[in-house]
Amino acid sequence: MRVLLVEDETAIARFIADGLEEEGFAVDVAGNGREGLRLALDNLAEYDLFLLDWMLPGASGIEICRAIRRENKTTPVIFLTAKDTVDDVVFGLETGANDYLRKPFAFEELLARMRVLLRNGDGEQNVFRYADIELDISGHRVLKAGKQVELTQKEFALLELLLRNKGKVCRRTRIIEKIWDIHFDHDTSVIDVYINFLRKKLDLPGQPSFIQTLRGVGYRVNNDV
Ligand code: CA
Repeated sequence: MRVLLVEDETAIARFIADGLEEEGFAVDVAGNGREGLRLALDNLAEYDLFLLDWMLPGASGIEICRAIRRENKTTPVIFLTAKDTVDDVVFGLETGANDYLRKPFAFEELLARMRVLLRNGDGEQNVFRYADIELDISGHRVLKAGKQVELTQKEFALLELLLRNKGKVCRRTRIIEKIWDIHFDHDTSVIDVYINFLRKKLDLPGQPSFIQTLRGVGYRVNNDV
């Protein structure tokens, strides 16, 4: 899952980005409205959710939200705002935002609201399974044959992407776009490294891997038989 965070207060931006990265999200941070607008429109299809501060130098969160909604009606937008009068909130939602949080807010509340919006976009699904592997998004844990397996953030995000797209090919470019942020240098061999980590932790010994390699194209987890 990849998120664009537009926030001009550096400490708040760092706090949110660090927290989300710990939860397995890839996070791009823009420190002003103009940069936010550019990133949003350049990578519209790659983002799963937008977090927009309201008052920003360059372009306001409202302007960014309107620009996103001109092109894309469905990707969730959450405002982070110190403005808290009822009129302001209604106005914010009328521009096409899905939710808002008043500063200061607890990180856990932000995460919970993000999960709700991302789940709605995905047919309410919160647990993904393949054979004896179970990935629980809200509990942020992975079980194999009922026993918890420790995954790093990137491993978790990669497994989530593969299981969300079960039966479909996850192309290498899409994996990079969804799991690594814009600072990544695009050496895609890192994907193979992480796929191997997942295989070591989750494959059955002596059996073909649960992750199929489509050489030069990407990876796929098949539908359960
Ligand atoms: Ca601000």
